[in-house]
Amino acid sequence: MARLEIHPEGTLSDVAAKILIINCGSSSLKFALLEGDAILAEGIFERLGLPEASARWRIGNDTATAEHPRANHERALAEAVALLEAHFGTPLPVNAVGHRVVHGGEFFSEAKLIDYEVIAKIESCRDLAPLHNPAHAIGIRIARKLFPSVPHVAVFDTAFHQTMPEHAWLYAVPYEMYKRYAVRRYGAHGTSHEHVARTAANALGRPIEELHLVTAHLGNGCSACAVREGKSVDTTMGLTPLEGLVMGTRSGDIDPNIIPYLRRVSGMPVEEIIEMLNHRSGLLGVSGVSNDMRAVVQAADEGYHRATLAIDLFCYRLAKGVLAMAAGLDRIDALVFTGGIGENNARVRARVLEFLQILKPEIDPDLNRAHGRESRGRITRDASGLLCMVVPTSEERAIAKQTAAFLKT
Ligand code: ADP
Repeated sequence: MARLEIHPEGTLSDVAAKILIINCGSSSLKFALLEGDAILAEGIFERLGLPEASARWRIGNDTATAEHPRANHERALAEAVALLEAHFGTPLPVNAVGHRVVHGGEFFSEAKLIDYEVIAKIESCRDLAPLHNPAHAIGIRIARKLFPSVPHVAVFDTAFHQTMPEHAWLYAVPYEMYKRYAVRRYGAHGTSHEHVARTAANALGRPIEELHLVTAHLGNGCSACAVREGKSVDTTMGLTPLEGLVMGTRSGDIDPNIIPYLRRVSGMPVEEIIEMLNHRSGLLGVSGVSNDMRAVVQAADEGYHRATLAIDLFCYRLAKGVLAMAAGLDRIDALVFTGGIGENNARVRARVLEFLQILKPEIDPDLNRAHGRESRGRITRDASGLLCMVVPTSEERAIAKQTAAFLKT
């Protein structure tokens, strides 16, 4: 059987353009250069601002690393461009620059050509993503100086979820909290959910407008999304990425009253409890082993009970999340796994389906072990009550595709 085509309809292949992707974090800068569907080069600068700042990158098949003590975002981007120019020519042949932006608030429901107004709106969402949005604005300003004559496009993690109906995004707290303080569900991983939903539709040979899908993005951060006829109608992440599923280090849903309770009984300040919920919970907190699913699985295989428990908690809560997403759909035409765990961990997928017996899934162990690679993503038997698929995500390709769309118009 044919291998799964990992790129959705209307791929980049027809666009002979080089797209530079920039993802500026608070202390990191990721970059990638794409041409069509090919990722020609990619790299990351980490620990920016610190003495141990460093870079690693791949250009073609060559990989390398370098120390860049105390480099800031500006120097990192200049270095990245210099690396690329050494290989691809000076000035770097780039037709457009795509910027990944974590939070677009309620301003953006799709990718946007960047101008001063867009930058101002990205900055105005800083309270919703204090670690990311200010860094994005810095990256955009630097990149516009370096590449002044090409379009720059902002691609938002939240944009895909702006189609959710009010009853899915509003919290049941006093309505003024939304009106005054913008407290609501925004979701995240939107670029990935949209990309894999379209790719799954392509693999199934059906128009996405006909499909009701649940997509499960399982990386370090994890979220599920209800994709109804190509539009997000619900998702598990909330105002911030802490809500929803169990993740590498995040707890996902908890009773908010745990916070004042813990403060009273343990004396921990609220800030420390919040830090614990974000950075020391999830797989790491329950297993005590690691936030990395590979290490947790290995510990479980060696008989360590808390590791098994962490995997079960992760899988059970995902199953619950899938069923919650079903409330926004008429049926589930396919459950789509993606992200580092979703794409590579057959054991997790099998365990999730054990917790979804109500939907009568029939896993095909061989297809599941092969991660659906020889079956256009499918990992369940033909007779299964629930079709399950594995679809690789590619944030870079998805951002490049959305950026390239501005070149065609
Ligand atoms: P991020 O969210 O940072 O992009 P990834 O999508 O790479 O992260 O997902 C990281 C998770 O994926 C880790 O828990 C890791 O254990 C898991 N993972 C990545 N590759 C594999 C693999 N080959 N086998 C099993 N798990 C994997």
